[in-house]
Amino acid sequence: MVRARYKIDASPLFRAMKRAIRNEVSEPFFRIGTFQFTWWEALRMREGGRTRKVPMIHVTYQGKYIGRIEADRYLAGSGFDTKEARREVAEQIKLIVTHPRKAAAAEATVTLKASGSPRCACCGRPLAGVEDRRSGVGMMCSRKWGWARG
Ligand SMILES: [Zn+2]
Repeated sequence: MVRARYKIDASPLFRAMKRAIRNEVSEPFFRIGTFQFTWWEALRMREGGRTRKVPMIHVTYQGKYIGRIEADRYLAGSGFDTKEARREVAEQIKLIVTHPRKAAAAEATVTLKASGSPRCACCGRPLAGVEDRRSGVGMMCSRKWGWARG
């Protein structure tokens, strides 16, 4: 059930996930803190009985499904009791999906300070190299997702 809709520019994350699929990542996900964004293709029926695939991103937060991103909308589900809590999380989602690389880098910095062992936002593996830790995404994932470094 959709409780609220928020306009959102998720094209940077959609684009990167599509590229990852072309590079043989079968089910791309992207993790920032306790957010997880997972690629999903829904089959929608068209007029005349034909189906088409609609790309989406499912969003979980603290392990719970809280909504999905479809085209330029975040469709929030029933995961929150108050409008304010829902909106606040929607704002965080906007920042992440519009600027995924920035979000990954910021997350790695925070994790490094807190626990000393940041993980790749795209595959969850520990990041060892200095450059990997700075970007929050490992070298292999950076390439697959089209985020090759200069
Ligand atoms: Zn990775």
